[in-house]
Amino acid sequence: MSHEHLAPATVAVTAGRPERVQGGPVNPPVVLSSTYVSQGVPGPELLYTRSGTETWQPFEEALGRLEGAVLPGIVFGSGMAAVAAALSLVPDRGVLVVPRHAYQVSLGYADDLTARHGVEVRRVDIADTDQVVAAMDGADVALLESPTNPMLEVADLPVLLAAARERGVRTVVDNTFATPLGQNPLAHGADVVLHSVTKYLAGHSDVVLGALVTDDPELDAALRGYRTLHGAIAGPLEVWLALRGLRTLHLRVERAQQNAVELAGRLADHPAVAEVRHPSLPSDPGHERATRLMNGYGAILGLRPHGGAAAADALVAAVDLWVPATSLGGVESSLERRRRFATESPTVPEDLLRLSVGVEDVEDLWADLDRALRSL
Ligand SMILES: *Cc1c(COP(=O)(O)O)cnc(C)c1O
Repeated sequence: MSHEHLAPATVAVTAGRPERVQGGPVNPPVVLSSTYVSQGVPGPELLYTRSGTETWQPFEEALGRLEGAVLPGIVFGSGMAAVAAALSLVPDRGVLVVPRHAYQVSLGYADDLTARHGVEVRRVDIADTDQVVAAMDGADVALLESPTNPMLEVADLPVLLAAARERGVRTVVDNTFATPLGQNPLAHGADVVLHSVTKYLAGHSDVVLGALVTDDPELDAALRGYRTLHGAIAGPLEVWLALRGLRTLHLRVERAQQNAVELAGRLADHPAVAEVRHPSLPSDPGHERATRLMNGYGAILGLRPHGGAAAADALVAAVDLWVPATSLGGVESSLERRRRFATESPTVPEDLLRLSVGVEDVEDLWADLDRALRSL
C-alpha cells in the first residue's frame, strides 16, 4: 500500500513505526548508546550519537511527512537550538528580516547576531505584506512567524514566500503555533520550517526539543552539519517521548482549537474583557487570512481585561484550573501576562495575557475563567 496520500491524522499515528516482523515491537526502541561498533573508514551507518542515533530517526521521519517534505526533519535539543541553526544561514554583516512581534528569544538571538556578526536586523509588521516585501530587498534571510507570538498576527505566507524566492531571500518559517496540521509552509516555497517541539508536537510539557524541516538537500546537509559541529543535540529519551506525544497531535490540536474557538466567542461578550484576540473571531484582523490560508485557527488566545496590567495579574492569580506558567501547547491550559518579561517587545500591550488553551472540558475552563474575571 502506498503511504504517499495518507491523511495527517494517519501519518501521525503510523509514521516511524518499526518494520512489521513476527514478534517485533510496534514502537521503536530507545537506544542508549553514545557510540556504535565501527572500524576502518566510517561509512553512512551510525557511528557516534552526536552525529546520529536510530532513536531520532522515527520522529524525524514522522515530522518530515507531516510537513509534506520528502526529507526527514532534523531534531535539535531545543527550539532555540533550531533557531540558531536556521539563522546560521545569515552571513556575517548580512541582512535578516524578522517580525517585530515574534517569539522573544528568537528576536534576542537576532540582536545577538547584530552584536557579534554585524547583521542588520529589519523588524517588520508581518501582517503588512507591502512592508515585509519592501524589507526583503537586499536581505539574505527572512524569519517568518504566523500566527505571531504573542499578538496572533497572521501573515500572507504564500505571497511573502513567493516574494522572497523572487529576490533570492532564504526563508525560515516558525510553524510552532499553527503546527503541521494548520499549515505546511514548504508547500508555499519556504526553505526551512522551524518547530519548538516542546509545544504542540510533544504536547505534554515534559520535554524541551526543537526541529527543522527542509526539502533542499544542500540545506539539509548544512543544517545537519551545524548540529553535529555545535553539538546542539537532543537526548534519545526526550525524542522518544516527543514521538509518543506526536501520535495524538491531531486529537489534541482538534480539541484545543474547538475549546479556543468556543472560549474566544464567550470572552468577546464578557463585561470584564476589553479585547480578545483569536483569528476565529470574524472581527479579528487575522480572520480573513487565517480562514483562507490555515486549517483551523490555532489554540492560543490573546486577552486584555478591563483594568490594565494590574487586572491581568489579578486574573492570573485568581484562576484555579488554568496554570499560571510560561510556554504553551501542552494538554493543560495555561496563561501568563507577556510583558512581565522585560525583554518582551514594547509594542505588546502591558495588559495582554496569552492563553494556551488545552484539552480539558470547555465548560470547566469557562467556569474558572468566568469566576476569575468576575472577581476582578
Ligand atoms: C517556545 C518557542 C520557541 C523556542 O523553543 P524552545 O523549545 O523553548 O527552545 C521558538 N518559537 C516559538 C514560536 C516558540 O513558542
